Amino acid sequence: MNQQNPSRPLRRSGWQRTAAGANLLSPSGRLGTVIFEEITGLAAVHGAINLGQGYPDEDGPAILLNSARENIAGGMNQYAPGRGLPVLREAIAAHQERFYGLAVDPEREVAVTTGATEAIAASILAFAGPGDEVLTFEPFYDSYGAIIGLSGARHTTAPLVGPQFQPDLEAMEAAMSDRTKVIVVNNPHNPMGSVFSRAALERIVRIAERFGAIIVTDEVYEHLTFGAEHIPVATLPGAWERTVTISSAGKTFSVTGWKIGWLTGPAALTDAVRTVKSFLSYSSGTPFQGAVALGLGMDDAFYSGVAAALQHKRDVLGAGLRDAGFDVFTPRGTYFTIVDAAPLGITDAPALARRLPELVGVAAIPVAVFCHDDGARRTRSLLRFAFCKKETVLAEAVQRLALLKDRL
Ligand code: PMP
Ligand code: GLN
Repeated sequence: MNQQNPSRPLRRSGWQRTAAGANLLSPSGRLGTVIFEEITGLAAVHGAINLGQGYPDEDGPAILLNSARENIAGGMNQYAPGRGLPVLREAIAAHQERFYGLAVDPEREVAVTTGATEAIAASILAFAGPGDEVLTFEPFYDSYGAIIGLSGARHTTAPLVGPQFQPDLEAMEAAMSDRTKVIVVNNPHNPMGSVFSRAALERIVRIAERFGAIIVTDEVYEHLTFGAEHIPVATLPGAWERTVTISSAGKTFSVTGWKIGWLTGPAALTDAVRTVKSFLSYSSGTPFQGAVALGLGMDDAFYSGVAAALQHKRDVLGAGLRDAGFDVFTPRGTYFTIVDAAPLGITDAPALARRLPELVGVAAIPVAVFCHDDGARRTRSLLRFAFCKKETVLAEAVQRLALLKDRL
């Protein structure tokens, strides 16, 4: 295990044994520890501003926080039903109807999970196993690679193509086979910040139909888009019956530590995922579920306000990154801005990311860790910066990053 030199490539996937004997699965075949933990750890050691791990530095709406407190004080402290509290399942169904016109049965077509992370894990484990293939676009959110590895299925990929980071659908079709049981879609996309076009999503559905694959779509950033329409895959013709849609309270309501996520989809698929979930965690944080139900019912001004505030932060950080000498890809959704460090003469962004906290007191995530080998080569000079931070914090980060050119 290369803990002394984490940037050295490991075997592509499978279990890696540490010197201490503990098993660690490398999500992308590169790192033995979760990248967010590693970079957040480096940021703490060097007192750096952490624009690596994507979590807000301000609390979400008081109505949610007060509700969770009241729920705890009121004795909501034992197991919730495995499917989730009825009040939350009803709020999730109402949210799908209100924003997307999707009629979802709260009894049979909704399940609450411990964050989107658990919904993703349970979905992949429910539908894929040894001998199967699971396709993701690349770069891919780290937990997809780890869970596909744990499931025993083979992980196939198709690239996202810049500058808009849209899926390469020719490559996707070429990567599909009769063994492809699941297509994982992530839209808006972490890490690339892209929002997929309707045409691309429709074609993904056609391809899934042709190969008989299930679509697992991770839409945790559904409300964090900037002038781009969020189109849930499940709303597209032919999609509903083969699609599991995943979201989470963490991003929309700035409560990433609560770990309340959910999935919606046809009863047969929801049941299969829920069965796996019941053996992963059985049920999810009871007092938070009621609070999230209240949040989902907040008015449209709340939702548009969250996106507008975040868009402003995106612009503050983007301007600063440009001034610091990076090429900036302006995201249309998520918490994240991708930059190319090549104009600063940097060809190894993973190495730079590990030096950046000490060098200038700012932390970022290298994009290559969200890739297999070919993708890692293509994204070698890219970094991801999170902008879900106070404007004063972003301004300070930008000042520090301006020093980078002279310190390289
Ligand atoms: N999917 C994506 C694309 C994410 O960015 C994240 C976390 N930021 C998650 C899933 C995990 O969500 P949760 O914290 O609700 O488990
Ligand atoms: N999803 C967040 C990110 O991409 C962090 C999640 C985590 O720490 N596992 O930064």
